[in-house]
Amino acid sequence: MKTTPLAFDYQSSTPCDKSVIDAMSPYWYEIWGNPSNMHNRLGTHASAATSFARENLASIFDISPERVIFTSGATEANNLALLGHARAKAFKEGSPGHLITLSSEHTSVIEPVRQLRREGFSVSELTPNSDGIIVLEDLVDAFQENTFLVSTMAANNEIGVLQPIEKIAILCKERGISFHCDAAQAFGNLAFNIDRIGIDLLTISGHKIYGPKGIGALLIGENIRIEPLQLGGGQENGLRPGTLPVPLIVGLVKAAQIANENLDENTARFIMLRDKLWTGLNNKVSDLLLNGSLERRLPNNLNFTVKGVRGSRLHKKLRPFISCSSGSACSNGKPSYVLMSIGRTQEEAEASLRLSIGRSTTIKEIEAAISIISSIVNELRI
Ligand code: PMP
Repeated sequence: MKTTPLAFDYQSSTPCDKSVIDAMSPYWYEIWGNPSNMHNRLGTHASAATSFARENLASIFDISPERVIFTSGATEANNLALLGHARAKAFKEGSPGHLITLSSEHTSVIEPVRQLRREGFSVSELTPNSDGIIVLEDLVDAFQENTFLVSTMAANNEIGVLQPIEKIAILCKERGISFHCDAAQAFGNLAFNIDRIGIDLLTISGHKIYGPKGIGALLIGENIRIEPLQLGGGQENGLRPGTLPVPLIVGLVKAAQIANENLDENTARFIMLRDKLWTGLNNKVSDLLLNGSLERRLPNNLNFTVKGVRGSRLHKKLRPFISCSSGSACSNGKPSYVLMSIGRTQEEAEASLRLSIGRSTTIKEIEAAISIISSIVNELRI
């Protein structure tokens, strides 16, 4: 009999919440107008829906609605934040400056930063410590006179570690440097008051928070300038032109509201399940090496290296039973540069598992995962 693999890959994506689907439903067929067309009622209804969604999203972050830019997801929001802000700065100053990021960032930060390097900007790419966390002294040492931007994620997509974003924001503010934070993994797990923390550009994504795929947002600070990456009809104050996807926007915001209302409850449950999984695995399997700090970590993430087994064999054996991951879904099957940045060898990175827990994960599934993983690892080690 064919079994459905257990789902342990909720950091890769999440299923759309039923009430998110319900909230989106009228905007596919009944209220289908173009929100930029204010000449007829179809358009004004669609426009009202996006304005209402924008206000609701802004209120979660305690900012004004004009500071929300809807994008196609976190990849685009990161590109817009980095390329857009850097190019605006270079136009204003007449020359490119210096920016700082971490080597364990998501590729949608790493690649635009590489592009900026090709455009003449200078870049410091810091290596995190062996727990995956930025070394604040290294950050201070990296600041230069012309540093204008620091970009670090709030929570890592592979090892789940949480960067000290409040401290980074203070160091940036003291020097008048903009701070971009990719919160694609953290938003929905942590509360963000971006002005209180001092974040100038914040990235979020719909499909990581039980919302639809293909939608995200960039939230920008009061006086932060960005150049658009594409030109066209002037939507989103000209910063991200293109017809707004009304159902997706409604869905993103509904998902954000649900996540925000249930933060504490979800966190407590995730920690209980995650700790049960980690303890259970360690009771049955020796030599598991945790990747990243356990304390400063997303509540639903576990990532560990299984010593003494070949990664390809481990993943092949697990595949029929457990859907999990060895790294990021965006890494094209290459060994994880995130794990290598915290000191794992290529073999260790390949023999690593990222298990991420979701809202519907049960204790029974945790127990089943412990039993499946332990028997496969112990069998491979014979
Ligand atoms: N940043 C991080 C930290 C992510 O985990 C992801 C998704 N894996 C992205 C950016 C890209 O998000 P999206 O799929 O919305 O483009």
